[in-house]
Amino acid sequence: MIWSLRRRLIASLAPVGILLAALGAVGLAVLWHTGGRIDAIIKENYVSVRAMDEMNERLERIDSSFQFALSGREGDAKAQFAANWVGFESQFHIEEENITIFPAEQELVEGLRSLKTDYRARGERFYARPSGSPDRRTDYFGKPGLLSQFSEIKTVIAEILRINQENMFQARDEAKATARIALIGLGAALALIGGLLFGVTWYLLHTIPGPIRLMTEAAQEIGGGHLDREVPVVTHDELGRLAQAFNAMTRQLRVYRQTDLSRLLRAQQTAQATIDSFPDPILVVDIDGHVELANPAARSLLGVGSSATWIPPEPLRQPVHEALTLQRPRLAEGFDQAITFQTGGEDRSYLPQIRPIRDANGDTTGAAVVLNDITRFRLLDQFKSDLVATVSHELKTPLTSVRLAVHVLLEESIGPLTAKQTEMLLDARENSERLLRLIDHLLALARLERSSSATKFVTIDPMSILERVATEAQGRAEDKHVEMIVEKGEPLPPVSGDPERLALAVANLVENAVTYTPTGGKVTLSALAADGRVVFAVADTGPGIPAEHLPHVFERFFRVPGQSAEGGTGLGLSIVKEIVDAHHGEVSCESTPGHGSVFRIALPAGV
Ligand code: ADP
Repeated sequence: MIWSLRRRLIASLAPVGILLAALGAVGLAVLWHTGGRIDAIIKENYVSVRAMDEMNERLERIDSSFQFALSGREGDAKAQFAANWVGFESQFHIEEENITIFPAEQELVEGLRSLKTDYRARGERFYARPSGSPDRRTDYFGKPGLLSQFSEIKTVIAEILRINQENMFQARDEAKATARIALIGLGAALALIGGLLFGVTWYLLHTIPGPIRLMTEAAQEIGGGHLDREVPVVTHDELGRLAQAFNAMTRQLRVYRQTDLSRLLRAQQTAQATIDSFPDPILVVDIDGHVELANPAARSLLGVGSSATWIPPEPLRQPVHEALTLQRPRLAEGFDQAITFQTGGEDRSYLPQIRPIRDANGDTTGAAVVLNDITRFRLLDQFKSDLVATVSHELKTPLTSVRLAVHVLLEESIGPLTAKQTEMLLDARENSERLLRLIDHLLALARLERSSSATKFVTIDPMSILERVATEAQGRAEDKHVEMIVEKGEPLPPVSGDPERLALAVANLVENAVTYTPTGGKVTLSALAADGRVVFAVADTGPGIPAEHLPHVFERFFRVPGQSAEGGTGLGLSIVKEIVDAHHGEVSCESTPGHGSVFRIALPAGV
């Protein structure tokens, strides 16, 4: 039969409880009974003992009354005789009612009754005789006389006293014996209960904590990830059922883990296959910089293996660190931000895209690094720049001779020109000038693009740039009757840059200002230091630029419709932007149509 834990506990503890209750009850009963009995015996015998004492006393006095009478004290003697008989009789009555020892006490009392009746009758006869009568002496001393009867009664009283006292001692001894037996019995019962309790405790300690301990150990191991751990089913009670349920739970957990694992594996394989299919190097690192995912392109380019700590190459180190620690992405856009790696004996260019990866709480868990391979575009761009440079260069030589020819013809040193011829030649000169400016701009752009990464930075005094540009443009301004001012302010901190290119940028702004400012207007060149930057400003009093066109003026080939100068190319401001970007600066334009424009170039101050 399978016993439940509850039943086992009850079955183990109930006998102990019952035994304890029974023992308590027996002990109480023994105490109650013994106490009651002793009490009764002592009380009963004590009454007899007292009655005997009193009777003895009275008997002595009765006896002494006879002696008084014989010695002539008749009055006192008679009174004493009568009075003491009253006391004696009443005590005898008490004893008669309190016979407890059968048959001995009863027989003695019976004997005492006939003795005292006889003794009293003889006494009364004694006193009935005249005082001083010699018969009285015979009554008292004769055989049997009052004296001998007196001693006989005393003997009986003493005997009754003795057996009562004996009875009391016997009761005491009995009580002692009962107490001893009860003590032994209680001790034995207590020892039995103690033994039983020890046995029950031993049994419970060996059957209950064992399985619980096993289950606790198993739960701890399962908590540590060992899902294959099973709890042995030792008993078939509640603990056994708990162990079975526990094992069923771990089995289910194993199934779940298996499912989750295969799902995870599938997801990981899909992710891996996806990034493997990209030709661009893709890499995912965890927060500690360990590579979690890398496609073959990344592995061969960066030489990384999965789960290895990856030390990024120099240009990526800072951006990856910032993505992991500051959650700051780095998304390179222009060719100037491209990084170059040597693979298979050739240089390849990549635009790094580094993004932090965040979990649902917004905490960084890693970073994704994608290197967009732009080698082909870069070569195409190079090809385009080379083509533009070559074509421009090739066009410039014949154009120079055309311009020269037009100049010579217009000077009329070869021969006079008709008005129509002069008009046509002036038109040709203007167009050739425009063509030259376009070619110059194209050459400048091609040169900038080709050598943007090779810019040599030196320390430059900002005012020297302004003065140089102003000097160069002075002639054109005077021709057009435009006033040109260079404002001198506070001493300025130096800037770092390429003096030729910065001069070209400022010169383009000044050239535009002079071009678009009508005769009588003013062009002001200035520079000031603010917020750690040096700001060059070229202000004019020209027509200004409508607000809707302002965002586009720095785009290539953009010209404000309806107001651009005849000889413009739409490339001047884009060259400015290109140069300023390469100097990590900012170019901006502020304009009020009808009142003029201010173009600003802000460069970081210091070397
Ligand atoms: P462009 O060779 O046509 O001057 P830019 O790139 O230098 O080309 O300038 C783009 C356009 O911006 C110009 O066509 C002109 O309409 C406008 N612009 C440039 N500078 C000024 C200026 N100082 N005042 C008014 N408009 C200007």
